[in-house]
Amino acid sequence: MTQGTVLIVGAGHAGFQVAASLRQHGFAERICLINDEAHLPYQRPPLSKAYLKGEGRPDSLMFRPDKFYREQNIELIADRAASIDRAARRLSLTSGSSLDYGHLVLATGARNRLLDIPNANLADVRYLRTLDESEALRQRIASGRFTSECLRLNGQLVRAAHSRTLLISLQYARSEAICTMRGARRCRDRVRERGATLRSVTLPNEIPTTALPSP
Ligand SMILES: Cc1cc2nc3c(=O)[nH]c(=O)nc-3n(C[C@H](O)[C@H](O)[C@H](O)COP(=O)(O)OP(=O)(O)OC[C@H]3O[C@@H](n4cnc5c(N)ncnc54)[C@H](O)[C@@H]3O)c2cc1C
Repeated sequence: MTQGTVLIVGAGHAGFQVAASLRQHGFAERICLINDEAHLPYQRPPLSKAYLKGEGRPDSLMFRPDKFYREQNIELIADRAASIDRAARRLSLTSGSSLDYGHLVLATGARNRLLDIPNANLADVRYLRTLDESEALRQRIASGRFTSECLRLNGQLVRAAHSRTLLISLQYARSEAICTMRGARRCRDRVRERGATLRSVTLPNEIPTTALPSP
């Protein structure tokens, strides 16, 4: 492999593992991990399972503690990639600074698809992908204010009103999240898969505001 700074955009599982594996296999040049989340790189699967249920602290989700990055000389840069100049081999960051690279790894993962139906932007419609989103939901579950929640889970809409939960999956049902919530709040649930037939299956035309009393 040609030597030179390795810039890794995205500090999810993929980005973290690239950095860790490079060091593990003896790569000695500069490694920068561009992290646009306000946490050390962490694992997402527990966000809809044990963590959501209230088990563990944020630290338990981290792939490695802070000292790992120092010891391995992996620079965690709290910023976001804005543009790439491939000819100059330069990455611009939203902060305004830029970094030159020998190798550029794009590990930017995925983001939730937004639901484009009326009322999908109500305050109680929630998405679940990040640690902060799981934390906020976990606190609401713990506080017992969960009976009128909607959340969007990795492309899925979950509605819980008066102890009933409706989960609509755009990809595949993350039924473990429903089970978690049901276990936590005794929710009854219905699960509808949408999958590839996104526009042809039964969906609410809108989220009725009357089903979502203010918390
Ligand atoms: C709630 C939940 C539960 C899951 N449960 C399971 C499970 O049980 N089993 C399983 O196999 N998988 C599960 N997954 C999926 C698994 O977490 C993903 O497959 C995995 O996170 C993908 O890792 P990634 O590094 O490719 O992308 P991501 O985890 O999406 O990480 C990409 C990172 O890049 C950042 N980024 C994006 N753009 C930029 C930019 N311009 N500049 C800097 N950074 C940027 C993002 O903010 C993010 O931090 C779950 C996912 C979620 C959300």
